[in-house]
Amino acid sequence: MRKIIHVDMDAFYASVELRENPSLKGKPVVVAWDSGRSVICAASYEARKYGLRSAMSVAKARILCPQAIYIAPQFPLYRAVSSQIRSVFARYTDLIEPLSLDEAYLDVTANFKNLPSATAVANAIRAEILDVTGLTASAGVAPNKFLAKIASDWRKPNGIFVIPPSRVQAFLLPLPLQKIPGVGKVTLAKFHRLNMFTVNDLLGYSEAELMYHFGRYGRRLYNLARGVDERPVEPNQVAQQVSTETTFEQDIPFGEINQPLILLCERLWGQLVRKKKFGCTVTLKLKTNAFRIITRSKTFSVPLHMPEHLVQAGLSLLERVDDEIKSNKFRLVGVGVSQFVEEEEVGMQLPLL
Ligand SMILES: [Mg+2]
Repeated sequence: MRKIIHVDMDAFYASVELRENPSLKGKPVVVAWDSGRSVICAASYEARKYGLRSAMSVAKARILCPQAIYIAPQFPLYRAVSSQIRSVFARYTDLIEPLSLDEAYLDVTANFKNLPSATAVANAIRAEILDVTGLTASAGVAPNKFLAKIASDWRKPNGIFVIPPSRVQAFLLPLPLQKIPGVGKVTLAKFHRLNMFTVNDLLGYSEAELMYHFGRYGRRLYNLARGVDERPVEPNQVAQQVSTETTFEQDIPFGEINQPLILLCERLWGQLVRKKKFGCTVTLKLKTNAFRIITRSKTFSVPLHMPEHLVQAGLSLLERVDDEIKSNKFRLVGVGVSQFVEEEEVGMQLPLL
């Protein structure tokens, strides 16, 4: 039986800004580029009282809370604080899987300080984070990643919630289905059409029935409803990439790659949105008729969050292909996005491409 902690900083970017500028305390503070087209990166708890949330458009936020104070994101600062937090984790375990700058899974089944329980470890970590950074973190403690992630949200801000193995079933049965990570609006609407509202309602379905309604995700739902999640904490996550490619029926000259590339970028965008994956790195892949593979990548300081950005990035990578290669004919073009951030971090306006 594993002991997993999910640590999640409270309103991270906004809290860092309040720490930097204490005169903002008690005021509705929003971290976002102050432009009608951008989206909120983080809202302080004071701002949340007005209904402001991360990923909400700044245009809407201005209506809900005209007096909010806007601060442009300072990612180098957040990254520096994030690495302080990771050094705290590293004093307790080396099984650390960061999910974003302010969130990580830790496997503390064995911990360096020989603390008797995962709860003790979580509390020690929260205290040490506060000590080192002046910021509060919330933690969820559970036998697996799925439950730990839900639990960290249960007593936010500055709270801890523990789901011991003996309490897993009692915790899960009444849980509303929208609390399951990965259940978005579309899946939730489908649940409701099937008259399913809580995990308890899921338990009435066989694995085959859930797979009939939800495809491969149905199998995962079947297991999650029973509190089963065998995914280990993976310290050195291989960089994931979501990509798509197309092989031409006939090899084409370089000058004709634009059009299929734009279509690929649009298709890839659809995949990314469905998977709720927003990444900072775009990679272009080309294969010549001699099977030589060429890749070009570009990394942005914030995740791509509009389809135009992806198309623009793809086209600009095409321009970076050497002239010597351009004289070939090409049999394949592909495009991929990697370096993902959590959904909560998305919504920042992309600076100049
Ligand atoms: Mg957070």
